[in-house]
Amino acid sequence: MNLPLKDKTLVRPAAHVNGTWVEKTPHGVYALSNPATGETLAELPRFGEAETRAAIAQADAALHGWKARTAGQRADILHRWYDLILANRDDVATLITLEEGKPLGEARGEVEYAASFIRWFAEEARRIYGDVIPAPRGAQRIVVLKQPIGVCAAITPWNFPAAMITRKAGPALAAGCTMVVKPASQTPLTALALAELAVRAGVPAGVFSVLTGNDTRVVGGELTGNPLVRKITFTGSTQVGRVLLEQSAATIKKCSMELGGNGPFIVFDDADLDAALEGLMVAKFRNTGQSCVGANRVLVQKGVYERFAQAFATRVKDLKVGNGLDEGVQIGPMIDAKAVSKAQEHVANAIAGGARVLTGGQRHALGGNFFEPTVLADMKPGMQMACEETFGPVAGLFPFDDEAGAIALANETEFGLASYFYAKDHARIWRVAEAIEAGMVGINCGLISTDVAPFGGIKQSGLGREGSKYGIDEFLEIKYLAWDGIG
Ligand code: NAP
Repeated sequence: MNLPLKDKTLVRPAAHVNGTWVEKTPHGVYALSNPATGETLAELPRFGEAETRAAIAQADAALHGWKARTAGQRADILHRWYDLILANRDDVATLITLEEGKPLGEARGEVEYAASFIRWFAEEARRIYGDVIPAPRGAQRIVVLKQPIGVCAAITPWNFPAAMITRKAGPALAAGCTMVVKPASQTPLTALALAELAVRAGVPAGVFSVLTGNDTRVVGGELTGNPLVRKITFTGSTQVGRVLLEQSAATIKKCSMELGGNGPFIVFDDADLDAALEGLMVAKFRNTGQSCVGANRVLVQKGVYERFAQAFATRVKDLKVGNGLDEGVQIGPMIDAKAVSKAQEHVANAIAGGARVLTGGQRHALGGNFFEPTVLADMKPGMQMACEETFGPVAGLFPFDDEAGAIALANETEFGLASYFYAKDHARIWRVAEAIEAGMVGINCGLISTDVAPFGGIKQSGLGREGSKYGIDEFLEIKYLAWDGIG
């Protein structure tokens, strides 16, 4: 493994479990490839049931010591982890671009975003307050304690290989829990670098472990079935979320689910169109369109529809596509051939239904996993792009007549993660914000993700919230003490 890192010891071709690198398992290795070039980046050990069970047992063994530390001691270690992630920002970003494909500038941004959750929850560690409740009897006192839930298993996706882990590990470790992470099999290197930095920060052995491999169902089966695991925290597709919820039912685990989206992006005719265009470029094309909070359906009011569509297509035509490591690239490769086929299928389905191609529409001349940034106009409800996440650099514009029509279109989905709208009229802003069925609403802004706000979805986009003051509750149990015979 010869990766272009300043610190070559940041990552090895091994899992990182119980504070050490695990180079071999009885199940051999699998190859990890760069989505931009197809080159093999590394060969990593495949974890099976027994290795997963052992990692869980080690996390359980580490639990007592970790939760016994004071909140201040845990916070100090998390602050050191935060500092180390930032100090190694360029290397971690390079790993993200190599294994996931996003442009290096975006990868640096992801590292900063990822680190922000460690800092936020280092601060929150000191604020896990309980309660004293006025008791129903004079001789009684009622006190509420918040305690760490225990061993947590995190299963994370490839599209934000650093942030989707720290958004879970930050609150878990702050609360006094230990964690075993199964990162996406396509992006384990970033997770492994985070584990190495955690060790350097002083996170004790067994408190934060990262498994490797591609025997996903076997590892997932053990993580969801093992009674020592008290909490499953998952980010990924709704389809897999359903499976994990079902598997966790037998041992009644607490579950958080950050699932898929089908984000509407609404442009009303009173909007600042230049600002809406800027917001849409970010909401649609960040991470090559492979973001759960991406604008999947662009709804534009008829009075400004054609003007907005042309201006948008002109901007999209100029986007620079290429290897994310190259200077000036704005759109990297998609994650794999399957993702490219899905984008192509969605475009074909839209064209067959009468959509107009304003720019792009096919595989990019660079070949491999590259797809042309695409704008389609005259989309209709019922098309694949209206019903499913496209998860690629393809934008579809749907015309609408009035506010009620826009809200109906926006809510016509089983998903409810992110949504966006641009408007100036204050009464309309309140009405639309309240009527949209989504966990997050961007009003006159296309970038909503931040450590300080509660991230999450409603409907079939998920359960629970990550980040913010609410995020730590997912890793805590409430216990009350009814204490009698006083006075
Ligand atoms: P995915 O196919 O659901 O995979 C996510 C994770 O689940 C990966 O680690 C995957 O492992 C694992 N997995 C798959 N099947 C499993 C099983 N049977 N048991 C246990 N683990 C299993 O999703 P993805 O393609 O990586 O990510 C894209 C999806 O994530 C999109 O739907 C996107 O909207 C969603 N997402 C949501 C959020 C959010 O915050 N709501 C954020 C980012 C992404 P392998 O890699 O080994 O298959």
